[in-house]
Amino acid sequence: MGRRKNEDVQSGSARRIALITGASRGLGAAIAVRLARAGYDIWANYRSNHEAAAKVKSEVEALGRTCEILPFDVCDEEGMEAALAPLVEKACPDVLVNNAGFSKDVMMMWMSREEWQSVTDVSLLGFFLVTKQVLTGMLKRRSGRIVNIASTAGQSGLPGQVNYSAAKAGLIGATKALAAEVAKRGVLVNVVAPGFIETDMTEDLPREAILPRIPLGRLGRPEEVASVVEFLCSDAASYITGQVLAVNGGLYV
Ligand code: NAP
Repeated sequence: MGRRKNEDVQSGSARRIALITGASRGLGAAIAVRLARAGYDIWANYRSNHEAAAKVKSEVEALGRTCEILPFDVCDEEGMEAALAPLVEKACPDVLVNNAGFSKDVMMMWMSREEWQSVTDVSLLGFFLVTKQVLTGMLKRRSGRIVNIASTAGQSGLPGQVNYSAAKAGLIGATKALAAEVAKRGVLVNVVAPGFIETDMTEDLPREAILPRIPLGRLGRPEEVASVVEFLCSDAASYITGQVLAVNGGLYV
């Protein structure tokens, strides 16, 4: 990717860093391990689950890469700056994966302002604040990859998820706009839009209602999303920007 070759990453001749938000569990943890296997040192953000984050750190280190674990809420500007700024002063990440997110499903007529705000904030304000921390460095260096994790909900809209659908559709719009802004400086910005993936977020969803809607007949695995993120960070994806790659088993086409 960028000016340096992927082989450099593999051989370890150039240090490459990937910052992943929400990396303690689910998709973020799988992305951290996958990118570590591809040769990246990992900066793994999460909110509060220290035990899960420590497990990801061990997995990354077992692959011979370093792992900084960074507990902060992506919506808390002060906490985020306190954790990230000292690291970013020394080195700018080559890859940022904006993955932190959560859902609070409720029909619009019963949705509280807090349920709207907290869900849209983590996807949109979180994207804005964390990306601002690394974007200048990427632009100066004239290379970087940003991958934003949206959702099928942001493409099709899902009932009971007006807040989450708005958050993820907003993230798709922000990705397209930013991709156009920074392409000339070698920074590529894309979305991965997963369907239903086996993580804590989906564990309580009734399988009998979901499975008939998925042409591939099963939920996806976190690794199946992580491999697409890795692709978007690789030299193989050097002419892809502003795109939405769906990883949804055919749920929405
Ligand atoms: P998950 O298993 O619930 O994990 C969520 C991760 O995000 C955890 O690491 C959590 O940290 C972190 N997090 C949550 N809020 C945060 C905040 N405010 N600041 C920092 N970190 C925060 O979720 P997942 O299923 O892996 O989902 C990951 C992303 O994929 C989300 O953006 C989600 O919307 C999207 N997605 C998921 C699916 C799916 O089917 N699973 C489908 C489409 C899109 P703690 O461990 O500390 O709580």
